[in-house]
Amino acid sequence: MPIQRRQFSLALAAAPLLPSLSHAQSQAQDAGFDKLTETFLESLWRLDPDAAVAAGRFEFAPRVTLPSSEQRARARSFLKRWQAQFESQPEAPLNTSQRMDRAMLIAKIQSDLWRLDTLREWAWSPAEHNPAAPLDLLLNTEHAPLPQRLQGLKPRLAQLPAYYRAALGSLSGVTREHTELAIQQAPGVLSVLDDIAKRAAEAGQAAAFKAPLAQARAAVNGYVDHLRRLLPGAKRSFRLGGELYEPKFAHDIQSARTAKQTYELAQQRREEVLASMQAQAAALWPTVIGSEAPPTDRFALIGRVIAKLSEKHVARERFVDEIRAQIPQLEAWVRDHDLLSQDASKPLTVRETPEYERGVAGASIEAPGAYRPQDRTYYNVTPLDDLTPEQAESSLREYNHWILQILNIHEAIPGHYTQLVHANRVPSKVKALFGNGAMVEGWAVYGERMMIESGYGASPEMTLMWGKWHLRSVTNTVLDYSVHVLGMEQPEALDLLVRQAFQTESEAREKWRRVQLTSVQLTSYFSGYSEIFALREQLKSRPGFDLKGFHEQFLSFGSAPVRLIAAEMLKA
Ligand code: ZN
Ligand code: ZN
Repeated sequence: MPIQRRQFSLALAAAPLLPSLSHAQSQAQDAGFDKLTETFLESLWRLDPDAAVAAGRFEFAPRVTLPSSEQRARARSFLKRWQAQFESQPEAPLNTSQRMDRAMLIAKIQSDLWRLDTLREWAWSPAEHNPAAPLDLLLNTEHAPLPQRLQGLKPRLAQLPAYYRAALGSLSGVTREHTELAIQQAPGVLSVLDDIAKRAAEAGQAAAFKAPLAQARAAVNGYVDHLRRLLPGAKRSFRLGGELYEPKFAHDIQSARTAKQTYELAQQRREEVLASMQAQAAALWPTVIGSEAPPTDRFALIGRVIAKLSEKHVARERFVDEIRAQIPQLEAWVRDHDLLSQDASKPLTVRETPEYERGVAGASIEAPGAYRPQDRTYYNVTPLDDLTPEQAESSLREYNHWILQILNIHEAIPGHYTQLVHANRVPSKVKALFGNGAMVEGWAVYGERMMIESGYGASPEMTLMWGKWHLRSVTNTVLDYSVHVLGMEQPEALDLLVRQAFQTESEAREKWRRVQLTSVQLTSYFSGYSEIFALREQLKSRPGFDLKGFHEQFLSFGSAPVRLIAAEMLKA
């Protein structure tokens, strides 16, 4: 069960809530800069209505962002103009938050330009062109009464044939993997169209939607037919290669380190974690396994103990309830151990993942777009109802007694959800919209370690299981770099995940698929974690260091890159 956060198009990874503007406590020192930012964002939404919809600006529903060369030319000149604008803004009159915003905006624009002209995913990945997410969001977010939502959707639907024509015109030199992905995703697009048909019928608008829906379906099917014809000639490697990987890492992660340095650090961390797990497993062997002689191979030793311990898990039908029950326990632990402040007025709602969002099993925090501060934040958990007994057992063993608690720490408290609550106090749309994924994932991974350090669940079993979970983040980095830069092949990758990181066969196969279809994102967990942890250790040596104070200050900057936060915190 992979952990998913709701992801929107553009660089809007995990777009968190925006505090209402009336809460902007401290009047900005340089109102001119905030004005400029506001103008940039409003122009961006006009340029890219799909991104606007993803951010919660549903009034942009009627227009589609066409993946055409004209649109790319418009985007290019827009980005260059704004890059010059922000670069010419002097830093001196800006406050700390504005300086970070300026750095983040320039980095975002540079990244967008690099993607447009150097990475060129729009040419080689047919899966880049998928109109389903904004349609789904517009249909299923209760932002207006249904008839009104359908009104906004209809003109968008009518543009789908043009959308797919532009997509076809953009493709050249595709990869087989991303072409197959786009073909596999087509039924998902069609099911969103079915959904629209159903809701239109409910609202008595079936007749008006008949023709645009038929044309949209034909366009989806036409795209798939064309992709099938492209498949035999799909020769581009899915591997990014070092020349694209390093700059992509620099743009996406915004780390103080290079990709290569991060990979080397992950290898080193992997050794540390395995050594510690080996000691835990050896100590647990007699009570967990018995008098049998332990294997000398460390992977075999650790693997056997983990497999046996994994038998302790919640009953299948109690899965969602158990997660719900753990949230107040984690809240109490964080409060009683004075780790971090929380906000009782913003409760987290644990719910079963809505039907239309299922597909990928798992658990995830679903935060509304930056312009929808009034919407709730949900902890979506997919119940195990639809699985065969074998699949359910495999998931339950994976999310066993100990790991389920670590999952909740990561997703909810003090992980993603708590970070989000703190980030929402920052009156910066830039950080809410273009938040740094490595900071967000790094915080959740750091939070796991911090909870274990505070004595949460203290036992050799918990320490061993946390080791397994932590090793997953570390291995993600090793795997991503090895596959995209060093040319690691599938059998070696599966061995790294299954035998050397104690993952199930099905989890490993899913990860192999993900590493073929994405690049760099898998490094965000360890990259962010390692920078946060290093910052804490550096500050610890200063007189008067206080753990809660460190956490509060770190989160007070919002979802900015760790590198920028560290520069501020080390200044004092
Ligand atoms: Zn079982
Ligand atoms: Zn996460």
